[in-house]
Amino acid sequence: MAPTVLGNHKGLPLQNTMKKIPTKGLTETELFAEMNALRKDDLNWRNGRNFAYVYYPGEEILSVVKKAYQLFFSENALNPSAFPSLRNMENDVVSMCASLFHGDEDVVGSLTTGGTESILMAVKTAREWGKKNKNLTGTPEIILPSTAHPAFFKAAHYFNVNILLCPVEQDFRVDAQKMEKLISENTVLLVGSAPSYPQGVVDPIEALGQIAKKRNLLFHVDACIGGFILPFLQQLDHKIPAFDFSVEGVTSISADIHKYGYAAKGASVILHKNSNLRKHQFYTYTKWTGGIYASPTMTGTRPGGAIAAAYAALKFVGNDGYLKLAKSCMDTTEKLQNAIREIPELDILTTPDATLFAITSDSLDIYEVGDEMGILGWQIDRQQMPPSLHFSINPAHEKVIDQTIEDLKIAVQKAKKLSLNKVGKNVQLQAIKTMQRMLPQSLFEKIKQLAAKHSDVGGKRSAAMYGMIGELQGKGDLDDMIKDFLDKMMK
Ligand SMILES: *Cc1c(COP(=O)(O)O)cnc(C)c1O
Repeated sequence: MAPTVLGNHKGLPLQNTMKKIPTKGLTETELFAEMNALRKDDLNWRNGRNFAYVYYPGEEILSVVKKAYQLFFSENALNPSAFPSLRNMENDVVSMCASLFHGDEDVVGSLTTGGTESILMAVKTAREWGKKNKNLTGTPEIILPSTAHPAFFKAAHYFNVNILLCPVEQDFRVDAQKMEKLISENTVLLVGSAPSYPQGVVDPIEALGQIAKKRNLLFHVDACIGGFILPFLQQLDHKIPAFDFSVEGVTSISADIHKYGYAAKGASVILHKNSNLRKHQFYTYTKWTGGIYASPTMTGTRPGGAIAAAYAALKFVGNDGYLKLAKSCMDTTEKLQNAIREIPELDILTTPDATLFAITSDSLDIYEVGDEMGILGWQIDRQQMPPSLHFSINPAHEKVIDQTIEDLKIAVQKAKKLSLNKVGKNVQLQAIKTMQRMLPQSLFEKIKQLAAKHSDVGGKRSAAMYGMIGELQGKGDLDDMIKDFLDKMMK
């Protein structure tokens, strides 16, 4: 649950004034002065102050990947015959990824602009495959662990498929048998994460693969975040459960090269077990007056730069480079986790499998710890159900992790003082506090007003707060408010 989706992480005020293209263009100096000034409140990712969004492998790799992007800045991968360079690089990236994930020669795929697009393609493929290969009696269904990424919900929303959600167990992994119980004649796809983003655990991919095979279903492994860290942790002899094409029954995998692959933003891969499956992903329109149109993924025009940067990252970093980076991330993760285990007020949720995890607390309000860390200059995302803070470790953290730990201890002490002043815990109050911290202040205030309007008690602050969740849930108001907020952000 990333609050920054809804706004600047520092809650900057919205701007409503209309802009015009300048009559006379700025000079380059003016322009860059202006743009650099705009960055002053951005995340300080080079200094490892963030635990999401940017994965920083150091200046050397970054500058090479940037050069590659610039070299193909203008090229367009829409038409594969116009730029054989891009086609060759895309094919090579797909092939390198297929090998990395223990696929055979039959494995094919496409580059997409990100994990979300890869997942959209996996769901679209399953829908089309189901319609052609199964006797569906109704809307196609996909079965997800409750920790699956929202991109699957987005896919279901766009592509008119239904979702059946399987709650995860205490350890935040889904139970394969419980997933199996949800299968119906309309099921087309099972999904597992490797790992899930919020708590960083790998679902039981082997057990799910067996079920998918037995029940003749497609099975997608979401390795968006894990794709370029798990294989290297495996090579480093960390205990990582099998999650890729080495597992029978896996029919597609998504992996984001723009996360632990350290490519430029706009690069993910969707792999299919064979080209018969991938055909269901493609789109064609043959009656256009502009000619026969065919497109492999969601986008039309496809950025050459992102493809070139993905290619450059894999080729320049190399397996050895990824091993080194993975080792740095894992060592840092273990250091941070060991320190957290020494802090009595904090707990690590479950037993994470890789370099991402969440922390929670029984004795204090974990969001308060997040707030205090924010004051100390760290940006840590809040999560819900249960309230927790998320860490995704990247190589930038190696140098600052001692400071992170120091500050975490300070933040806990400060949060403890604050907690003493608090009235007893109340479930609704907790829920409201969750929202307050996950949503930007301006949005929260509006929700509060709306709740007050709906509620009998009227404008009284606490009453409105108490009633808010109950009043808003199930009415679609909350979704509407958030959409309204996004709308304002994008103006
Ligand atoms: C990041 C992520 C996605 C979505 O990827 P985007 O590149 O943000 O679209 C999907 N699944 C998991 C597990 C992720 O971590």
